[in-house]
Amino acid sequence: MSQTIRDTVILGSGCAGLTAAIYAARANLKPLVLEGHEPGGQLSLTTLVENFPGWAEGIQGPQLIENMKQQAARFGAEFQMAHLVSVDLSRRPFVLNLGQEEVRTHTLTIASGASARWLGLPSEQALIGHGVSSCATCDGFFFKGKEIAVIGGGDSAMEEALFLTRFASKVTVIHRREHFRASKIMLERTMAHPTVQFLTNTGVEEVLGVEEKEVRGLRLLNTLTGQETMLPVSGVFLAIGHTPNASMFAGQIDLDQDGYVLTHDNVFTRAPGVFACGDVQDRRYRQAITAAGSGCMAALEVEKYLDEHNR
Ligand code: NAP
Repeated sequence: MSQTIRDTVILGSGCAGLTAAIYAARANLKPLVLEGHEPGGQLSLTTLVENFPGWAEGIQGPQLIENMKQQAARFGAEFQMAHLVSVDLSRRPFVLNLGQEEVRTHTLTIASGASARWLGLPSEQALIGHGVSSCATCDGFFFKGKEIAVIGGGDSAMEEALFLTRFASKVTVIHRREHFRASKIMLERTMAHPTVQFLTNTGVEEVLGVEEKEVRGLRLLNTLTGQETMLPVSGVFLAIGHTPNASMFAGQIDLDQDGYVLTHDNVFTRAPGVFACGDVQDRRYRQAITAAGSGCMAALEVEKYLDEHNR
């Protein structure tokens, strides 16, 4: 274990973690950012971000993340490709077990975000990477001229569907209900696209192609009529929301019934010196800008906590 005790460690390198890193670095706290399983978080898997203030023409998600990372590094933030295996929040300083090594720190900011959710069908799990994906930006390219399906009814589903029209000959959005969660502008834009079709009140029963080791289609169920149909597709993109990455803190700080970190006064957890920001604690807004805002708050509270504890 390193003898150094850090002032602050930030868990996660998405919009929240990197904003916390910029603020903590500018406060001369030399934050260590643990980049986690999905470096850059959800923005690194997205395309054009049109609603982050200051980018009048929009900016690509991965570029926005890269800019933030450089900005944090410029003020002295350090980055490590590692994720937290375990931590005992009752000990001071906190000892973070990163598997190969341990890091000690006076404060911890949890900005570990949320990960894509799956339907949980055995056939879906068997075909992940063989035509089933949760990332259109990563895998869309492989479906040039093919017919594909997007599952979900939120903004992510619309965004993925529109993005996939660049490659696919036809995109079918499959949603389990009649009404959509997506914003009006995204829904209208997607509905207006000539190569996108919609199937509502439709559930996915099975992804076909397990034996062939590549997606051949979907077995669908109309939830109103009970009628089963087959939809031939070569690719299936899941866009059914996310699960917060906080299970390693269960029992040590408060989590809600879905596993989101419960915070009070914006970013305080139950454990003194442990703060949470971004999608791991925000099930309501879940926007890049709100994640950034809470990252800023967490870093300001870290600074205050260290001051109050004469660090
Ligand atoms: P979301 O808004 O929670 O939508 C998830 C969708 O998946 C819902 O339509 C839900 O159906 C469906 N779903 C969930 N579990 C399912 C299951 N087991 N089987 C079938 N369908 C299931 O998630 P999101 O679309 O990822 O968006 C998250 C947040 O990010 C939102 O605040 C959104 O506005 C934001 N976002 C914004 C943009 C943008 O502005 N450009 C882009 C992407 C995301 P029900 O409706 O029936 O629950």
